[in-house]
Amino acid sequence: MTKIVISRDAFTNIVVSAVEVHARESMGALLGSRRKNTYFVKEAYGFQSAERKPLQVKMKSFREKRINNCFKYLSRHNVIGDFHSHPGGYDKLSTNDERDIESFGEDFISVLVVMKKSKRTKLWKYNKRDKSISGSIGENFFVKIKAFEWDDEFEKVFSVKVECKHMKNVNKTIKYYKKMKKKLEKMEKTSKAHERLKLKLKRMLP
Ligand SMILES: [Zn+2]
Repeated sequence: MTKIVISRDAFTNIVVSAVEVHARESMGALLGSRRKNTYFVKEAYGFQSAERKPLQVKMKSFREKRINNCFKYLSRHNVIGDFHSHPGGYDKLSTNDERDIESFGEDFISVLVVMKKSKRTKLWKYNKRDKSISGSIGENFFVKIKAFEWDDEFEKVFSVKVECKHMKNVNKTIKYYKKMKKKLEKMEKTSKAHERLKLKLKRMLP
């Protein structure tokens, strides 16, 4: 099965790009290498000049060429794919998305970042059903990361399994903050109880 392995730095950049422009779509390049059935994404960069409309992202191709040329000098990795976000939780590819993926052809990986506002904190996990990973970023967003590639033989876009070891660290941090929050709540409760007791004692004294 084809899969994509996202590094810590790439994961951070993909998520931050999407959060930064939220309500609008983000777009960027994925750099790394491909070995057999695995795409190793080492770096990810969001494009500043992408025209960010809620349903579609386009970037003038001359700019894209300029950036890709720049990567050739600044990174030891090659451009192996792209990413873009869907704010508002739409987790399917649009017709344009599918067309773009087809035009890139085989050996190119497209990552879709689905964003949803959510106050509930969910730990990061792998979702077998759609081969994606998902979880919370703070108490603001629920994020799902999906990946796709084009297959010449079947003339179809296929889902690619997403892997990111950094999820574990993010979960550790989420759990740590949760614990701290509980501790703080407990302390606040105790101090309120103390205040009440203090008042009661004051009233009792002559
Ligand atoms: Zn899209």
